[in-house]
Amino acid sequence: MKKSDVLKAWGRILQGRKPSLSIEITRECPLRCPGCYAYGDEHLGGGTTLRGLSDYRGQALIDGVIDVVDRHKPLHLSIVGGDPLVRYRELETLVPQLLARGVHVQIVTSAFRAIPADWARLPHLTIAVSIDGLREEHDVRRAPATYDRILKNIAGQSVTIHCTVTGQMMKRPGYLRDFLAFWTPRPEIRKVWFSLFTPQVGDDLPEILTPAERAEAISQMMALRREFSKLDMAESLIRQFATPPRSPEECVFAKTTEVVSADLTTPVTPCQFGGTPDCSSCGCIASMGLAAVADHKLGGVLPVGALLKASVWAGGWRSELGAAPPPPPKLKVLH
Ligand code: SF4
Ligand code: SF4
Repeated sequence: MKKSDVLKAWGRILQGRKPSLSIEITRECPLRCPGCYAYGDEHLGGGTTLRGLSDYRGQALIDGVIDVVDRHKPLHLSIVGGDPLVRYRELETLVPQLLARGVHVQIVTSAFRAIPADWARLPHLTIAVSIDGLREEHDVRRAPATYDRILKNIAGQSVTIHCTVTGQMMKRPGYLRDFLAFWTPRPEIRKVWFSLFTPQVGDDLPEILTPAERAEAISQMMALRREFSKLDMAESLIRQFATPPRSPEECVFAKTTEVVSADLTTPVTPCQFGGTPDCSSCGCIASMGLAAVADHKLGGVLPVGALLKASVWAGGWRSELGAAPPPPPKLKVLH
Protein backbone atom coordinates (compact mmCIF):
# COMPACT_ATOMS: atom_id res chain seq x y z
CA MET A 1 0.00 0.00 0.00
CA LYS A 2 1.38 3.44 -0.98
CA LYS A 3 1.72 6.27 1.57
CA SER A 4 -0.74 8.38 -0.45
CA ASP A 5 -3.32 5.57 -0.20
CA VAL A 6 -2.87 5.44 3.59
CA LEU A 7 -3.38 9.20 3.84
CA LYS A 8 -6.51 9.10 1.67
CA ALA A 9 -7.90 6.20 3.74
CA TRP A 10 -7.14 8.09 6.94
CA GLY A 11 -9.05 11.12 5.61
CA ARG A 12 -12.10 8.90 4.92
CA ILE A 13 -11.95 7.43 8.43
CA LEU A 14 -11.85 10.90 9.98
CA GLN A 15 -15.01 11.71 8.01
CA GLY A 16 -16.71 8.73 9.65
CA ARG A 17 -16.53 6.59 6.47
CA LYS A 18 -14.97 3.20 5.90
CA PRO A 19 -12.46 3.50 3.05
CA SER A 20 -13.10 0.00 1.78
CA LEU A 21 -16.32 -1.63 0.59
CA SER A 22 -17.03 -5.21 -0.40
CA ILE A 23 -20.24 -6.21 -2.20
CA GLU A 24 -21.51 -9.75 -2.74
CA ILE A 25 -23.19 -8.84 -6.03
CA THR A 26 -24.87 -12.19 -6.59
CA ARG A 27 -26.05 -15.14 -4.53
CA GLU A 28 -25.22 -17.51 -7.36
CA CYS A 29 -22.09 -19.55 -8.01
CA PRO A 30 -21.63 -22.60 -10.25
CA LEU A 31 -19.01 -24.03 -7.85
CA ARG A 32 -19.48 -25.90 -4.57
CA CYS A 33 -16.07 -25.51 -2.91
CA PRO A 34 -15.49 -27.34 0.38
CA GLY A 35 -14.92 -24.83 3.18
CA CYS A 36 -16.67 -21.95 1.32
CA TYR A 37 -17.61 -19.38 3.95
CA ALA A 38 -20.08 -17.45 1.74
CA TYR A 39 -22.59 -20.31 1.75
CA GLY A 40 -22.19 -21.22 5.42
CA ASP A 41 -25.40 -21.23 7.50
CA GLU A 42 -24.01 -18.54 9.80
CA HIS A 43 -22.49 -16.28 7.13
CA LEU A 44 -25.26 -13.68 7.48
CA GLY A 45 -25.72 -14.20 11.20
CA GLY A 46 -27.98 -17.26 11.13
CA GLY A 47 -31.35 -15.69 10.21
CA THR A 48 -30.97 -16.26 6.49
CA THR A 49 -28.29 -17.53 4.11
CA LEU A 50 -26.74 -16.04 1.00
CA ARG A 51 -28.77 -18.40 -1.18
CA GLY A 52 -31.92 -17.36 0.68
CA LEU A 53 -31.50 -13.64 -0.09
CA SER A 54 -33.18 -11.98 -3.03
CA ASP A 55 -30.57 -10.52 -5.35
CA TYR A 56 -30.61 -8.31 -8.42
CA ARG A 57 -29.77 -8.60 -12.08
CA GLY A 58 -29.76 -6.40 -15.16
CA GLN A 59 -30.21 -2.65 -14.84
CA ALA A 60 -31.53 -3.03 -11.27
CA LEU A 61 -28.18 -4.54 -10.22
CA ILE A 62 -26.19 -1.83 -12.02
CA ASP A 63 -28.25 0.96 -10.45
CA GLY A 64 -28.21 -0.72 -7.04
CA VAL A 65 -24.43 -1.13 -6.93
CA ILE A 66 -23.84 2.44 -8.11
CA ASP A 67 -26.23 3.68 -5.43
CA VAL A 68 -24.39 1.75 -2.67
CA VAL A 69 -21.02 3.02 -3.93
CA ASP A 70 -22.23 6.62 -4.15
CA ARG A 71 -23.51 6.43 -0.58
CA HIS A 72 -20.37 4.82 0.88
CA LYS A 73 -17.82 6.60 -1.36
CA PRO A 74 -15.11 3.95 -0.87
CA LEU A 75 -11.56 4.24 -2.16
CA HIS A 76 -11.45 0.48 -2.75
CA LEU A 77 -14.32 -1.75 -3.84
CA SER A 78 -14.12 -5.52 -3.78
CA ILE A 79 -16.76 -7.28 -5.89
CA VAL A 80 -17.36 -10.82 -4.69
CA GLY A 81 -20.21 -13.32 -4.61
CA GLY A 82 -21.18 -16.03 -5.18
CA ASP A 83 -19.12 -15.61 -8.31
CA PRO A 84 -19.34 -12.09 -9.74
CA LEU A 85 -18.84 -13.41 -13.29
CA VAL A 86 -22.33 -14.92 -13.07
CA ARG A 87 -23.30 -11.29 -13.72
CA TYR A 88 -20.59 -10.54 -16.29
CA ARG A 89 -22.93 -8.59 -18.59
CA GLU A 90 -23.83 -6.21 -15.78
CA LEU A 91 -20.16 -5.95 -14.78
CA GLU A 92 -19.15 -4.95 -18.30
CA THR A 93 -21.32 -1.86 -17.81
CA LEU A 94 -20.59 -1.35 -14.13
CA VAL A 95 -16.79 -1.58 -14.06
CA PRO A 96 -16.08 1.49 -16.26
CA GLN A 97 -18.65 3.52 -14.29
CA LEU A 98 -17.02 2.56 -10.99
CA LEU A 99 -13.51 3.31 -12.26
CA ALA A 100 -14.72 6.71 -13.52
CA ARG A 101 -15.62 7.51 -9.90
CA GLY A 102 -11.96 7.09 -8.93
CA VAL A 103 -12.61 3.82 -7.08
CA HIS A 104 -10.03 1.02 -7.25
CA VAL A 105 -12.05 -2.06 -8.17
CA GLN A 106 -11.14 -5.66 -7.39
CA ILE A 107 -13.17 -8.55 -8.80
CA VAL A 108 -12.71 -11.89 -7.05
CA THR A 109 -13.63 -14.83 -9.27
CA SER A 110 -13.02 -18.50 -9.94
CA ALA A 111 -12.61 -17.62 -13.67
CA PHE A 112 -15.21 -20.26 -14.51
CA ARG A 113 -15.97 -18.16 -17.59
CA ALA A 114 -13.85 -15.94 -19.81
CA ILE A 115 -12.85 -12.60 -18.34
CA PRO A 116 -14.02 -9.80 -20.67
CA ALA A 117 -11.15 -8.89 -23.03
CA ASP A 118 -11.47 -5.12 -22.41
CA TRP A 119 -10.67 -5.52 -18.73
CA ALA A 120 -7.03 -6.30 -19.48
CA ARG A 121 -6.52 -2.65 -20.46
CA LEU A 122 -8.32 -0.97 -17.56
CA PRO A 123 -6.13 0.75 -14.96
CA HIS A 124 -7.09 0.47 -11.26
CA LEU A 125 -8.87 -2.82 -11.86
CA THR A 126 -7.59 -6.00 -10.18
CA ILE A 127 -8.88 -9.39 -11.25
CA ALA A 128 -8.16 -11.83 -8.43
CA VAL A 129 -8.54 -15.46 -9.49
CA SER A 130 -8.97 -17.96 -6.66
CA ILE A 131 -6.98 -21.16 -7.16
CA ASP A 132 -7.09 -23.83 -4.47
CA GLY A 133 -3.69 -25.46 -4.86
CA LEU A 134 -2.15 -27.61 -7.55
CA ARG A 135 -4.19 -29.09 -10.40
CA GLU A 136 -4.79 -32.44 -8.71
CA GLU A 137 -6.50 -30.92 -5.65
CA HIS A 138 -7.90 -27.80 -7.28
CA ASP A 139 -9.77 -29.63 -10.06
CA VAL A 140 -11.56 -31.78 -7.48
CA ARG A 141 -12.43 -28.87 -5.19
CA ARG A 142 -13.32 -26.24 -7.76
CA ALA A 143 -14.89 -27.95 -10.79
CA PRO A 144 -16.14 -26.62 -13.20
CA ALA A 145 -13.43 -23.92 -12.78
CA THR A 146 -10.64 -26.42 -13.49
CA TYR A 147 -7.02 -25.57 -14.36
CA ASP A 148 -7.69 -26.08 -18.07
CA ARG A 149 -10.69 -23.80 -17.97
CA ILE A 150 -8.90 -21.10 -15.97
CA LEU A 151 -5.92 -21.13 -18.34
CA LYS A 152 -8.29 -20.65 -21.28
CA ASN A 153 -10.37 -17.97 -19.54
CA ILE A 154 -7.48 -15.77 -18.41
CA ALA A 155 -5.68 -15.76 -21.78
CA GLY A 156 -4.54 -12.23 -22.66
CA GLN A 157 -5.38 -10.92 -19.18
CA SER A 158 -3.24 -9.63 -16.32
CA VAL A 159 -4.56 -11.32 -13.20
CA THR A 160 -3.61 -11.84 -9.59
CA ILE A 161 -3.72 -15.42 -8.37
CA HIS A 162 -5.07 -15.83 -4.85
CA CYS A 163 -4.47 -19.18 -3.19
CA THR A 164 -5.82 -20.06 0.24
CA VAL A 165 -3.30 -22.37 1.87
CA THR A 166 -4.91 -25.32 3.67
CA GLY A 167 -3.75 -27.97 6.12
CA GLN A 168 -3.86 -30.54 3.31
CA MET A 169 -1.37 -28.50 1.23
CA MET A 170 1.03 -28.11 4.14
CA LYS A 171 1.16 -31.88 4.60
CA ARG A 172 3.00 -32.23 1.28
CA PRO A 173 6.58 -30.86 1.31
CA GLY A 174 7.32 -28.27 -1.39
CA TYR A 175 3.64 -27.66 -2.23
CA LEU A 176 3.77 -23.86 -2.18
CA ARG A 177 6.95 -23.81 -4.23
CA ASP A 178 5.44 -26.15 -6.85
CA PHE A 179 2.38 -23.89 -7.01
CA LEU A 180 4.49 -20.80 -7.65
CA ALA A 181 6.66 -22.67 -10.17
CA PHE A 182 3.55 -23.54 -12.18
CA TRP A 183 1.82 -20.15 -12.18
CA THR A 184 4.45 -17.42 -11.99
CA PRO A 185 6.19 -18.02 -15.36
CA ARG A 186 2.91 -17.36 -17.20
CA PRO A 187 2.59 -13.90 -18.78
CA GLU A 188 -1.08 -13.55 -17.72
CA ILE A 189 -0.08 -13.74 -14.07
CA ARG A 190 0.79 -10.37 -12.59
CA LYS A 191 1.04 -11.33 -8.93
CA VAL A 192 0.38 -14.19 -6.54
CA TRP A 193 -1.08 -13.82 -3.05
CA PHE A 194 -1.38 -16.48 -0.38
CA SER A 195 -3.93 -16.45 2.44
CA LEU A 196 -4.16 -19.13 5.11
CA PHE A 197 -7.46 -20.91 5.68
CA THR A 198 -9.58 -19.07 8.28
CA PRO A 199 -12.05 -21.24 10.22
CA GLN A 200 -15.16 -20.28 12.12
CA VAL A 201 -15.03 -20.69 15.89
CA GLY A 202 -15.61 -24.37 16.70
CA ASP A 203 -14.84 -25.68 13.18
CA ASP A 204 -13.03 -28.98 12.89
CA LEU A 205 -12.00 -29.19 9.24
CA PRO A 206 -9.05 -30.74 7.38
CA GLU A 207 -8.41 -27.29 5.83
CA ILE A 208 -7.35 -25.86 9.21
CA LEU A 209 -3.58 -25.54 9.62
CA THR A 210 -2.01 -26.85 12.82
CA PRO A 211 0.19 -24.31 14.66
CA ALA A 212 3.26 -26.12 13.27
CA GLU A 213 1.88 -25.97 9.72
CA ARG A 214 1.11 -22.28 10.14
CA ALA A 215 4.66 -21.59 11.28
CA GLU A 216 6.01 -23.63 8.37
CA ALA A 217 3.82 -21.74 5.88
CA ILE A 218 5.13 -18.42 7.23
CA SER A 219 8.71 -19.59 6.98
CA GLN A 220 8.19 -20.88 3.41
CA MET A 221 6.50 -17.65 2.28
CA MET A 222 9.44 -15.65 3.66
CA ALA A 223 11.86 -17.72 1.59
CA LEU A 224 9.69 -18.00 -1.54
CA ARG A 225 9.18 -14.24 -1.88
CA ARG A 226 12.90 -13.94 -2.57
CA GLU A 227 12.80 -16.70 -5.18
CA PHE A 228 9.56 -15.66 -6.94
CA SER A 229 9.24 -11.92 -7.51
CA LYS A 230 5.56 -12.29 -8.45
CA LEU A 231 4.79 -13.43 -4.90
CA ASP A 232 3.62 -9.98 -3.90
CA MET A 233 3.82 -10.24 -0.12
CA ALA A 234 6.06 -7.98 1.95
CA GLU A 235 8.00 -9.47 4.85
CA SER A 236 6.12 -7.17 7.25
CA LEU A 237 2.83 -8.63 5.98
CA ILE A 238 3.96 -12.26 6.20
CA ARG A 239 5.15 -11.69 9.78
CA GLN A 240 1.59 -10.72 10.79
CA PHE A 241 0.33 -14.28 10.13
CA ALA A 242 2.17 -15.26 13.33
CA THR A 243 0.13 -12.86 15.46
CA PRO A 244 -3.32 -12.35 13.91
CA PRO A 245 -5.75 -9.90 15.55
CA ARG A 246 -7.33 -11.43 18.66
CA SER A 247 -10.82 -10.19 17.81
CA PRO A 248 -12.71 -8.16 15.20
CA GLU A 249 -12.30 -5.17 17.52
CA GLU A 250 -8.55 -5.37 17.00
CA CYS A 251 -8.77 -6.03 13.26
CA VAL A 252 -7.98 -2.92 11.21
CA PHE A 253 -9.38 -4.60 8.12
CA ALA A 254 -12.74 -5.30 9.79
CA LYS A 255 -12.83 -1.77 11.20
CA THR A 256 -12.19 -0.13 7.84
CA THR A 257 -14.22 -2.34 5.49
CA GLU A 258 -17.99 -2.37 5.02
CA VAL A 259 -19.38 -5.61 3.60
CA VAL A 260 -22.82 -5.78 1.98
CA SER A 261 -24.54 -8.94 0.77
CA ALA A 262 -26.49 -9.73 -2.40
CA ASP A 263 -29.68 -7.86 -1.52
CA LEU A 264 -27.42 -4.77 -1.36
CA THR A 265 -28.70 -4.11 2.14
CA THR A 266 -27.81 -6.93 4.52
CA PRO A 267 -24.46 -6.27 6.21
CA VAL A 268 -21.93 -9.06 6.56
CA THR A 269 -20.25 -8.82 9.94
CA PRO A 270 -17.75 -8.70 11.56
CA CYS A 271 -15.78 -9.04 8.30
CA GLN A 272 -16.15 -10.65 4.89
CA PHE A 273 -16.19 -14.13 6.46
CA GLY A 274 -19.39 -13.39 8.37
CA GLY A 275 -20.59 -15.63 11.20
CA THR A 276 -18.14 -16.00 14.06
CA PRO A 277 -14.69 -16.19 12.49
CA ASP A 278 -11.84 -17.52 14.57
CA CYS A 279 -9.65 -14.41 14.53
CA SER A 280 -6.88 -16.18 16.43
CA SER A 281 -6.49 -18.43 13.35
CA CYS A 282 -7.14 -15.72 10.77
CA GLY A 283 -5.15 -16.06 7.58
CA CYS A 284 -6.75 -13.34 5.45
CA ILE A 285 -4.07 -11.54 3.43
CA ALA A 286 -6.04 -8.26 3.51
CA SER A 287 -6.26 -8.35 7.29
CA MET A 288 -2.54 -9.11 7.59
CA GLY A 289 -1.65 -6.35 5.10
CA LEU A 290 -3.52 -3.74 7.11
CA ALA A 291 -2.14 -5.12 10.38
CA ALA A 292 1.34 -4.56 8.93
CA VAL A 293 0.44 -0.95 8.12
CA ALA A 294 -0.98 -0.52 11.64
CA ASP A 295 2.20 -1.95 13.11
CA HIS A 296 4.35 0.66 11.40
CA LYS A 297 5.56 3.30 13.85
CA LEU A 298 5.44 6.93 12.77
CA GLY A 299 8.79 8.53 13.55
CA GLY A 300 9.73 5.17 15.03
CA VAL A 301 7.48 5.95 18.02
CA LEU A 302 3.71 6.13 17.44
CA PRO A 303 2.11 3.01 15.94
CA VAL A 304 -0.14 3.86 12.96
CA GLY A 305 -2.67 1.47 14.52
CA ALA A 306 -3.10 3.70 17.56
CA LEU A 307 -3.70 6.67 15.30
CA LEU A 308 -6.21 4.68 13.23
CA LYS A 309 -8.04 3.57 16.36
CA ALA A 310 -8.34 7.17 17.53
CA SER A 311 -9.44 8.22 14.04
CA VAL A 312 -12.15 5.52 13.86
CA TRP A 313 -13.43 6.83 17.19
CA ALA A 314 -13.30 10.45 16.05
CA GLY A 315 -14.94 9.59 12.71
CA GLY A 316 -17.69 7.61 14.43
CA TRP A 317 -18.42 10.56 16.70
CA ARG A 318 -18.44 12.97 13.79
CA SER A 319 -20.88 10.83 11.77
CA GLU A 320 -23.32 10.61 14.66
CA LEU A 321 -24.32 14.27 14.64
CA GLY A 322 -26.06 15.24 17.81
CA ALA A 323 -25.18 12.03 19.60
CA ALA A 324 -23.05 12.04 22.69
CA PRO A 325 -19.47 11.07 21.88
CA PRO A 326 -18.51 7.52 22.82
CA PRO A 327 -15.73 7.10 25.39
CA PRO A 328 -12.30 7.68 23.86
CA PRO A 329 -10.22 4.63 22.95
CA LYS A 330 -7.29 3.66 25.13
CA LEU A 331 -4.26 5.00 23.34
CA LYS A 332 -0.94 3.55 24.22
CA VAL A 333 1.83 5.92 23.16
CA LEU A 334 5.27 4.42 23.35
CA HIS A 335 7.95 6.69 24.79
S1 SF4 B 1 -16.21 -20.02 -5.96
FE1 SF4 B 1 -16.18 -18.82 -4.07
S2 SF4 B 1 -18.35 -18.40 -3.64
FE2 SF4 B 1 -18.31 -20.08 -5.14
S3 SF4 B 1 -18.43 -21.93 -3.86
FE3 SF4 B 1 -16.26 -21.50 -4.28
S4 SF4 B 1 -15.55 -20.32 -2.50
FE4 SF4 B 1 -17.82 -20.26 -2.52
S1 SF4 C 1 -10.44 -10.50 8.93
FE1 SF4 C 1 -9.61 -12.07 10.30
S2 SF4 C 1 -8.98 -10.98 12.16
FE2 SF4 C 1 -10.31 -9.62 10.99
S3 SF4 C 1 -12.33 -9.92 11.89
FE3 SF4 C 1 -12.16 -11.29 10.12
S4 SF4 C 1 -11.40 -13.23 10.96
FE4 SF4 C 1 -11.07 -11.65 12.52
